[in-house]
Amino acid sequence: MTDATPPPAPGSAVDTSGALPPVELVHVPAWGPYALAVHGGAGPRSHPLSEDEVAEREEGLRRALEAGAAELAAGGAAVDAVCAAVVELEDCAFFNAGRGAALTTEGLAELDACVMRGDRLAGAVAAAGHARNPVRAARAVLEQTPHVLIADPAVEQLTEWGCEVAEQEHFVVERQRRALARLLEERSHGTVGAVARDASGAVAAATSTGGITGQLPGRVGDTPLVGAGTFADDSTVAVSGTGTGEFFVRGVLAHDLYARMRYAGADLQSAAREVLDTHLGAKGADGGLIAVDPRGDIVLAWDSGAMYRGWLTVDGPVAAT
Ligand code: ASP
Repeated sequence: MTDATPPPAPGSAVDTSGALPPVELVHVPAWGPYALAVHGGAGPRSHPLSEDEVAEREEGLRRALEAGAAELAAGGAAVDAVCAAVVELEDCAFFNAGRGAALTTEGLAELDACVMRGDRLAGAVAAAGHARNPVRAARAVLEQTPHVLIADPAVEQLTEWGCEVAEQEHFVVERQRRALARLLEERSHGTVGAVARDASGAVAAATSTGGITGQLPGRVGDTPLVGAGTFADDSTVAVSGTGTGEFFVRGVLAHDLYARMRYAGADLQSAAREVLDTHLGAKGADGGLIAVDPRGDIVLAWDSGAMYRGWLTVDGPVAAT
């Protein structure tokens, strides 16, 4: 146990007094047989990134896009692409997922991840302490079990699924140790995610996170909860979110974006703005999301001042911080 002061309950801040924070939005119109976007987490920055920090993070985002694009170009399914992209981001220590994850008050990495296909099959893990790539464990839950969500899968279980196991030392990096020490000063937001549309028109989403710096042990956020931080339906949209998970859970945010498009006829861009305003901005919270529709139109939107993000274009990957 560290002697860090526990943070206020995540998601307890409610400030509805001022104007809503502006939603920033990138729209990438469909340009070819497939589409892919990634995020590396949204959240206010306590200090501007140095040139090196920008370069490292953009490189991580580009590698993820290249991994996903290789799957799609080879005729792979959207679910192959989102998993390949998220594995790259989990392995990159600059993002809050897999290696480099945010730490609990006890200084441990407890990882959440979810994979959802547009045919509505989903798999997720919560508070996983041993899965080197939580997104692979989530996919194993989807493909190898009758379940949707498994909490802290055991080493033996991961091995049986064919997932690589890692010790805590793999996940815990110095940057996050320092962030835990500074706790409230630099509460780490993060999370990584990917959405894709493949050549058959199917969509998928995957999201993976270490949660929030200084979260209580056992806390599970929105990421592994279908409809909160991750959602996909082939008829309408695939969504991956990032921000204080409690607000996404209460608003069932990813599903709400889907419902606005599906039942109220909203277009992708308005639905994205509406859910960020309704469930985050109006509640004094912030965050972001990426989404793709079955035509391959992509939206990347955030109201947090910043979001690591990337998308594929006909000329290759674009990454921005
Ligand atoms: N949504 C994640 C969680 O609450 C954290 C984040 O995206 O920053 O666990």
